[in-house]
Amino acid sequence: MRGIAPLIGLTVSQVNIRRPSLRWPIPRLLVDTLPNSRLSRLTRRAKYILAEFNDANDILIGTLILHLGMSGRICLLAQDETAAKHDHFDICFLGGQVLRLRDPRRFGAVLWVDANESVGAHPLMKTLGVEPLDTSFTADYLYQQLRSRSVAIKTVIMDSHLVVGVGNIYASESLFRAKINPKTSANKVSFSKCESLVREIKATLTAAIEAGGSSLRDFFGADGNPGYFQQTYFVYGRTDAPCRECGAPISRIKQGQRSTFYCPCCQA
Ligand SMILES: [Zn+2]
Repeated sequence: MRGIAPLIGLTVSQVNIRRPSLRWPIPRLLVDTLPNSRLSRLTRRAKYILAEFNDANDILIGTLILHLGMSGRICLLAQDETAAKHDHFDICFLGGQVLRLRDPRRFGAVLWVDANESVGAHPLMKTLGVEPLDTSFTADYLYQQLRSRSVAIKTVIMDSHLVVGVGNIYASESLFRAKINPKTSANKVSFSKCESLVREIKATLTAAIEAGGSSLRDFFGADGNPGYFQQTYFVYGRTDAPCRECGAPISRIKQGQRSTFYCPCCQA
């Protein structure tokens, strides 16, 4: 998102929809609604980019929800370059800059929420859990959420209805750092372990952002497995390699179709 931040404050000159059939159709009304409005704010919720647009009187007209799906990428072009095959959507700004969505597999989404509707109440937003780096993600919150769940803790912390953005790498690494066995039934995780886990999830995510692989950068082409801070993984991708703390070989198991890595000794 840092990459598209220079667009804030600029006025839209034109919208091009070349191929509307993404995951849901791109709303045709954007062609008439956005021109002459100003991009006023960019925020993020889970993997959604939220772009707010204001009218000439600086009053909000609505919010564009952008999701890149599996293969989407947004590019900021300095001028109107010829669109390629998979360039489905453009927002052109006065001054010549273009925000372009390229999405070969078309699992991405461009949606519009009018100012008189609530973005938080949108079907894609309302079931999302808390942001992991937000102050609302606490040990109390996690502990309460885990009471009613008997599936494995690893699966639960990757559930975006509970907390968003804890991917497979973060989940494995955080559980190692908190010394929790990934197979533990969620409702068996103690309050003090919840404190450790919340602390380690925040620390792991913060370290990734500081290493330059922030989830914000993912907006420019997410494959879900960014290569950041690979040198410092404790367990992820280290099957049979010696644990960095105790030397025991790292185990790999499957949980919910995903590989989990853990130390059977440190996370007994
Ligand atoms: Zn170990």
